[in-house]
Amino acid sequence: MQDHRAPAIIVHGGAGHLGADDPASSGLADAPRLVGVRRAAEEGYRVLAQGGSALVAVEAAVRILEDDPTYNAGTGAVLNAVGEAELDASIMDGATLRCGAVAVVRDVKNPVTLARLVMERSNHVLLAGPGASLFAREVGIPAIENAALVTPAQRARYEASRRGSPGTKTGTVGAVARDRAGHLAAATSTGGMAMKLPGRVGDTPIIGAGTYADDRLAAASGTGHGERFIQLTVARHAADLVGRGATAAEAAQATIQEVGARLDGEGGLIVLGPTGPAGFAFNTQVMARAYSLPDGTIVAEL
Ligand code: ASP
Repeated sequence: MQDHRAPAIIVHGGAGHLGADDPASSGLADAPRLVGVRRAAEEGYRVLAQGGSALVAVEAAVRILEDDPTYNAGTGAVLNAVGEAELDASIMDGATLRCGAVAVVRDVKNPVTLARLVMERSNHVLLAGPGASLFAREVGIPAIENAALVTPAQRARYEASRRGSPGTKTGTVGAVARDRAGHLAAATSTGGMAMKLPGRVGDTPIIGAGTYADDRLAAASGTGHGERFIQLTVARHAADLVGRGATAAEAAQATIQEVGARLDGEGGLIVLGPTGPAGFAFNTQVMARAYSLPDGTIVAEL
């Protein structure tokens, strides 16, 4: 008999459109964006297969993508209107409903880990800006220069945007997982929208919008136009649909359909319920993603 509570993970590397400057447009099969999501899903699955928790698995997967300059999270984040990286991240434990998030962080290499520490070592859910940095130092996360987060590719995109070129906008990262005990977790990390106003906070660190996990419903992580995702509390909405009987795939599809139909919003979503396979949906040209099959094989797709 198949174990419907078999460990499972799905990760995304952002929804968006391919531009002429995008390496992915020259060869979809070996796009760098596929390599990273595969590595992240493999690492997350390795944690789960060894009996680790969904929470540990999603943090591990997201850290890999934050450190990969291909993605719009951590190192390689897009730049805001004044040419700086400002990072948002969140994490949620479906077993306990505990969650943590950080916003407008400028000096931390792995915001998802800071979000986890907000969850575990503070009485708060969301810390932003200088307060998040202060807390990072208190819990032993060293400060890094903002310039260390900025890659030459993102600097070039920023300069091109200032000259009026639209550029591409993919690369937020997220992971949702189910562990051997049947517990769910979700995590998401981003540099936000390119050319955003300094101080802008998107859906990623807003629990219920960009990230949600509840063992009784589902776990979800989003990517796309954050303002629209906040308006429809996308992640919680999808989790509720699973709670009412939809499969993860149906819930993702219906939610993204609503983002498009009601708000003309673009993006993608990954969803995993207490049982069954992971689901995903996007209404953009591409969404890099990788997920485990019941036998542990990892599939990566754009
Ligand atoms: N959702 C992210 C934000 O609005 C951006 C993205 O996913 O591309 O901050």
